[in-house]
Order: sequence, then C-alpha cells, then structure tokens
Amino acid sequence: MNIALIAHDKKKDDIIRFVLAYQHIFQAHSLYATGTTGSLIQEATGLPVHRFQSGPLGGDQEIGALIAKNAIDLVLFFRDPLTAQPHEPDVSALLRLCDVYSVPLATNMGTAEVLVRGMERGDIDWRTLQQRKDG
Ligand code: PGA
Repeated sequence: MNIALIAHDKKKDDIIRFVLAYQHIFQAHSLYATGTTGSLIQEATGLPVHRFQSGPLGGDQEIGALIAKNAIDLVLFFRDPLTAQPHEPDVSALLRLCDVYSVPLATNMGTAEVLVRGMERGDIDWRTLQQRKDG
C-alpha cells in the first residue's frame, strides 16, 4: 500500500511515536510524506520515506495530486485543530480528494490506529484490487 503521512507541527511528536509503535506494519509499505514530517519519521525510524515539499510550501498539494491519480491508498493526517494554518485551503483540498477517491483517511491518532490495524488485517486490500481494475 502507498501510505501518506502528514502532521502539523504540534502533532509531529505524536506521528513519530505512532510510526515507531507500528513500524513492523509500516515497513512492509511505501511511505510518502510532506517535507518536515517525512524527515522526522525517516530520522526516527530509519524507514525510507518519499518526501515532498513542506506542507505550507505545497506538499499537501503534491500528495493531493497523487490521490487524484488514485495512487495513495491510505492517508494519516495528524491535524492540529487548535492552530490556524496558513495553508488551510490546501489541507481542505487534500481531505476533499480523499472523499472523491474513497481513500481511507484518519485526521487523528485514534482513527489512525483503527485504520492501520485494519490495513494489517486486510481490510483495505480492496484498494489493490481496484487499482488493478483501473490500471
Ligand atoms: P510538514 O508539512 O510536514 O512539512 O511540516 C505538514 C503540513 O503542515 O501540512
């Protein structure tokens, strides 16, 4: 599966801890991330992460473009709901595209945990089947 990881600044520690906790699952998948989130995850876990621009500099849009190609299977976006983001329109656009393409999306750690455990169990294997059909 192609997994996108994004975290706003106040949630970066959380996403690092999360990826460390589920490293045994993440290591079997391809990871994509916005710039700073990706660097921190790579540094903390040693897992390879394909990094885009930092979120405020267009990284969310780059990930959105992959979603629009149906090339992302799962999005884990640890949002900070208490801080205004300069790139809020980009964030909304990314979330909207997840709905357009029925991409499983978590915007907090509680849901992320359910999705990652579900992915391990095969609950989103339909994504691979759908891509084979589309491709
Ligand atoms: P960052 O971007 O990982 O480069 O900090 C995340 C975001 O704020 O969208």
